[in-house]
Amino acid sequence: MKTIIVTGGAGFLGSHLCERLLARGNDVICVDNFFSGRKENVQHLMGNTRFELVRHDIVHPLYLEADQIYNLACPASPVAYQYNPIKTIKTSTVGMVNMLGLAKRCRARILHTSTSEVYGDPDVHPQREDYWGNVNPLGPRSCYDEGKRVAESLCVNYHLAHGMEVRIVRIFNTYGPRMDPNDGRVVSNFIMQALRGEPLTIYGDGSQTRSFCYVDDLIEGLMRMMDQDDDIGPVNIGNPVENTMLELAEAVLSVTGSDAPITHVDLPKDDPKQRCPDITKAKQLLGWEPQVDLKTGLGKATEYYRATQFDAS
Ligand code: NAD
Ligand code: UDP
Repeated sequence: MKTIIVTGGAGFLGSHLCERLLARGNDVICVDNFFSGRKENVQHLMGNTRFELVRHDIVHPLYLEADQIYNLACPASPVAYQYNPIKTIKTSTVGMVNMLGLAKRCRARILHTSTSEVYGDPDVHPQREDYWGNVNPLGPRSCYDEGKRVAESLCVNYHLAHGMEVRIVRIFNTYGPRMDPNDGRVVSNFIMQALRGEPLTIYGDGSQTRSFCYVDDLIEGLMRMMDQDDDIGPVNIGNPVENTMLELAEAVLSVTGSDAPITHVDLPKDDPKQRCPDITKAKQLLGWEPQVDLKTGLGKATEYYRATQFDAS
């Protein structure tokens, strides 16, 4: 069976991916610098002799052997990626060059986890893969958006120049167990606030929309994209059911059974007003569409936060 490197493997999505690949019989090398990820996320995999954990920052070259590389290393929460914007840019650009170099030497297929953020504050809705986006190159989100756009360009150009097997996935907002309760993203914030009986912090008036995908659905989409031979992408992977942040807050209150109040705070600069994937391409190319609805997924995430050391009571 194949040996697979997962960069960012100790993070939220990466830990689920490592788990699924091991269950399928692959050897998995998880590479992480633990900036926004945690050893605890992969602790349950440590006893498996097909699993290795390597502390490494992908901004530096990496010399390993593998058949496939999933490149997930990059903080995803706005709070985390704006903590050190220059480092975020380096991770998506220098880090991507390093991982492409590794893939080239090993003749490995490499999948880049891009983001719906490449569409910026979109004026086309829902977003299809052929939409070029509306990104502020100077704004507070640009270290992430523009880094991910350069990474896509790097993948395409390594493919054209060297015939490399690259795959590009644009991930839309994904949530579920192991999303760090303190990382600042909306689903973990709302659930933790609801469990603690603290006010749910809606940024702005709450009319902005996002489309939330449950982690198991997302991982299935990533693996199908990696394992098909026909298309380098990009392909949108996300749940096309769109909700306002007010609707999300109400859903969280209902699922958690909390009577916490809702409060409104300032909307961050450049916060996209709407976000919804057109998943026609994923359906046709991968036969993929989400299976888990929002309330079921929120229930599973809530169980996780209740059961971990982040005990909210
Ligand atoms: P996360 O922050 O939980 O995981 C990212 C992981 O990468 C962490 O374990 C972190 O320590 C590691 N990392 C960061 N910089 C690194 C570096 N320089 N070298 C090595 N490791 C490094 O975030 P996530 O939600 O699991 O996101 C994983 C990937 O998916 C990211 O690339 C993100 O941009 C992309 N993505 C996620 C979402 C989402 O909704 N979760 C949406 C769009 C794109
Ligand atoms: N948001 C919110 N309250 C929070 C955290 C986020 O209302 O406590 C909003 C945020 O302004 C954005 C949406 O929720 O409109 C999604 O934010 P997140 O940081 O999860 O993801 P992104 O903005 O990158 O899509």
